[in-house]
Amino acid sequence: MDAREYFPSSADLDAFREAARACKACRLWKNGTQTVFGEGPGDARLFLVGDRPDVDDDRVGEPFVGEAGRLLDRALAAAGVPRDEVYLTHLAKHLKVEKPPSPGEIRACVPWLEMEIELIRPDVLICLGAAPARALIGKAPRWNATVVATLHPAAVLRQSTAEARQQDFERLTEDLRRAAGLVRQKRAS
Ligand code: SF4
Repeated sequence: MDAREYFPSSADLDAFREAARACKACRLWKNGTQTVFGEGPGDARLFLVGDRPDVDDDRVGEPFVGEAGRLLDRALAAAGVPRDEVYLTHLAKHLKVEKPPSPGEIRACVPWLEMEIELIRPDVLICLGAAPARALIGKAPRWNATVVATLHPAAVLRQSTAEARQQDFERLTEDLRRAAGLVRQKRAS
């Protein structure tokens, strides 16, 4: 069983967001308060993917609203990318606190993410951390999207020293800036 069992009949992002609320395609639905679907404009050129919602995302029902989200906001601002112009989402749509989603949980959930990409057709997919990169790198050509793999903002926060956090923050910012440059190149060609 996977998320496709819960797909709506209409190919519309809001219909998918609504349908995902009822998804029980893997056991993660028992963990969270609610499904955390993606947020952002339907014509976003930059599409950012984390691995799964954190406790703040789960409480609010939106991606990247907690401490990691605030760090991501700062990195986007430093890169000159308005947050309200990007689409933000996660690989798995329900909370998992203790460890990352398993391969089976990702397999069950990834059809939601694939449909978000299919409906938005962004120019650049920014994978925040290894799990989204593993899930999307081989599939990106089907959407004609370029993949940029970078750090997850939570990993930046977990660094043990201020110096290491600053270095990772700058790397994340630089990768976001590069991704925005790739969008400009694609739009100009
Ligand atoms: S994590 Fe994904 S597949 Fe699993 S129940 Fe939640 S929305 Fe459905």
